[in-house]
Amino acid sequence: MTTENTLLSHSALSTTAPLTVTRFAPSPTGLLHLGHAYSALFAEAAATDKGGRFLLRLEDIDVGRCRPEFEAAIFEDLQWLGLHWETPVRRQSDHLDDHAAALAHLDDAGLLYPCFCTRKDLAREAAMSLSAPHSPDGPIYPGTCRNLDKTTREERITSGAPHALRLDTAKAMRTIGRPLTFTDSARGRIDVQPEDCGDVVLARKDIATSYHLAVVVDDARQGVTLITRGEDLLHATPVHRILQTLLGYSEPLYHHHALLHGPDGARYAKRDGAVTLAALRDKGATPEDIRQMIQDHA
Ligand code: GLU
Repeated sequence: MTTENTLLSHSALSTTAPLTVTRFAPSPTGLLHLGHAYSALFAEAAATDKGGRFLLRLEDIDVGRCRPEFEAAIFEDLQWLGLHWETPVRRQSDHLDDHAAALAHLDDAGLLYPCFCTRKDLAREAAMSLSAPHSPDGPIYPGTCRNLDKTTREERITSGAPHALRLDTAKAMRTIGRPLTFTDSARGRIDVQPEDCGDVVLARKDIATSYHLAVVVDDARQGVTLITRGEDLLHATPVHRILQTLLGYSEPLYHHHALLHGPDGARYAKRDGAVTLAALRDKGATPEDIRQMIQDHA
């Protein structure tokens, strides 16, 4: 092979190999703890190891729970840890139009249906069929509203009954017409099992988007090629592959990392009042101490 050919093949490689783009996507619903620090450092390292880009996204569609002071604390904590991310930072609530366009696309394809079930209805159904299939998010929706006739739907909508919009997952898979998989860099190729997804909510009663829709649209809009997140979200990825396929987005690679556990063996979680980065900093911990604690607990 001549030098010229070698050079040519190198340049061909560098233009075709996609640049790694990762993100850390916290919700400003509380203060960050060691588990978040682990996730953020993991994501940044995954990008920088490959000369890629690291993004930060604020997942703030849950208007009732998100607070500006938590958002400010996210920036402060991550800066203190020494992370560097690109600006501007994408805030999900600034992009509801993108979510609405994706939702309209799915609706035009006849893949959504209104769901009028209340929390009480869902709890009652779940209590009546305790052996019904569950996901880590709770009982899989039994499809109560999927078969409502057109007139009933229209009457309820006209009467102002609050409703969510759900994906008809079985119909979505028929539209796609082939089995789907996704690739996790630690676990390999995984088959999407639509029956484990259920008919997920894509537009909530209170806001016309949802975690599943927003995360898929925003990752695609930001050109994210490697999605790193905790393995507690592994069960959501099949839903995301279905949505990416329906919306014509490219398939990202995933890395669902193990969750960090505290000295008592319990995993770090906001709701458990885990020790926050702010509290550790106030007690005199340095970013180096945090990295060391993460290593000790990983
Ligand atoms: N916003 C989600 C969380 O804080 C993470 C979403 C994701 O990484 O896909 O748990």
